[in-house]
Amino acid sequence: MSYTALYRKFRPDNFDDVKGQDHIVTTLTNQIKHNRIGHAYLFCGTRGTGKTTVAKILAKAVNCEHPVNGSPCNECAMCKAIQAGTAMNVIEIDAASNNGVDNIREIREEVSYRPTEGNYKVYIIDEVHMLSTGAFNALLKTLEEPPSYVMFILATTEAHKIPITILSRCQRYDFHRITIDTIAARLDELLKIEGVEAEEKAVRYVAKAGDGSMRDALSLLDQCIAFYLGQTLTYDKVLDVLGAVDTEVFSKLLRKVIQGDVTSSIHILEELIVGGRELSQFVGDFTWYLRNLLLVKTSENPEEAIDVSSENMKLLKEESTMLEVETLMRYIRIFSDLSNQIRYATQKRVLVEIALIKLCRPAMETNLDSVLDRIRSLEQQMAERPVQQVIVQNGAVSQPGGMTDAAGDSVLGGKKEAAPVKAAPEDLQKIVAGWRAITGQTSGMFKQMLQKAVPKYNGETGEPILYVEFQDFLGQSYVDNPEAKQELQEVIARQTGKTVEIQMLVANQHQHTNLSRITVDQAIRENIHMDVVMEEDPNEE
Ligand SMILES: [Zn+2]
Repeated sequence: MSYTALYRKFRPDNFDDVKGQDHIVTTLTNQIKHNRIGHAYLFCGTRGTGKTTVAKILAKAVNCEHPVNGSPCNECAMCKAIQAGTAMNVIEIDAASNNGVDNIREIREEVSYRPTEGNYKVYIIDEVHMLSTGAFNALLKTLEEPPSYVMFILATTEAHKIPITILSRCQRYDFHRITIDTIAARLDELLKIEGVEAEEKAVRYVAKAGDGSMRDALSLLDQCIAFYLGQTLTYDKVLDVLGAVDTEVFSKLLRKVIQGDVTSSIHILEELIVGGRELSQFVGDFTWYLRNLLLVKTSENPEEAIDVSSENMKLLKEESTMLEVETLMRYIRIFSDLSNQIRYATQKRVLVEIALIKLCRPAMETNLDSVLDRIRSLEQQMAERPVQQVIVQNGAVSQPGGMTDAAGDSVLGGKKEAAPVKAAPEDLQKIVAGWRAITGQTSGMFKQMLQKAVPKYNGETGEPILYVEFQDFLGQSYVDNPEAKQELQEVIARQTGKTVEIQMLVANQHQHTNLSRITVDQAIRENIHMDVVMEEDPNEE
């Protein structure tokens, strides 16, 4: 008997078995139950989140002779034919290889004929963003006046590449990355069916390695089972098969990075490569390690927030005192950028080396995070040189209003007090400094809107309220939306450890005339504890 890959064998054939996409399943089954089926659907989301699986179930459900609660029965002739891929009325097209005008014209001609079997002719176009401009135009003509018996299901990993004219004609569904808990629960279920014993820790590791993709997690599980056929799957075995690295190495590497020790960091990488470790995996795991560290640093009860052994927790706690939240966020950003690039790169090793050097040497980068990092290391040098501090204090004396203690805030704050606009509270500045990382943690349309939004504060009172000003009227749907507000608050709390009051607004549609931009410039100045500009002309005194 030939072996069927787990993800094929256990591919859901009805809506109930689709995991982690409840919001989509509920909407679709309701539409089917109430016979309010649309003509064009757009399924967006990263790979392995169930887009084509759901598309197939939907194709069956609308054609099924006796649908059960909005799900296909999987027993009738139509269900069976579609499942087997022999149905004439369900056409699957991979736009990656059929992306020309002619391919779509063919569809346009075909749609004029009613289906010979079933109720609907369903076209499932996968990777639809790959279509050429001409093909999109041809598709648009069909979408504009679809015959009643035609249904399009477009699937894509890159929704931003779809023309707005197409988007506006589709019902859009965003498939979420599936959580580790959901994946782990599914893996457990399947392992039981397969009669394979596995340690909980091993299963969780595989679930985590799937990185939000059920398909990837199942493929990895397949590899592990195949390698140790008939044996209990332990954590160590999983690490071995997946080429994963023990956390102790991450701890060693991180400490070298914090010390700015490029040579030792590269040496540790070298050892990993010699040990046969897979680099993309290493990058993903190290990013995860940094993420755990951030949680340890920012949460009150890290033991509840993350799932590591007590020895590892001890290391993480030690490390959390060695670096600032902003530095850690910069590390995470560099490594998560890297994990996106590395997947398709040929020179993986060089990319990882460059990233490690970037971590060790903030001077090589020019964005705000790294500038803050450089300021911090300058500060440290300043603190070790008392002569320089005198200059600072001299400057401060001439500005008594803004003087604070050595570890306190900028003396520049005093200067600004005379101006009509007060400085934004420090917490807000931190949030804005990390805006990219913060908004990156949200998803879908909300993420897009947030990334274009301008974070503001009340420049008159300087009260610690974050005003998120959407630049587009579409932001209206998030104003007064408690869930959106809570999502953003939670992300901010996770990233910065601060709870902040948020108000969302749409530009040109609100009455708050005293709002000011929280500028990057200000954030830098506020973080410069020593005031270089302070060396004033002595003749002035
Ligand atoms: Zn059926």
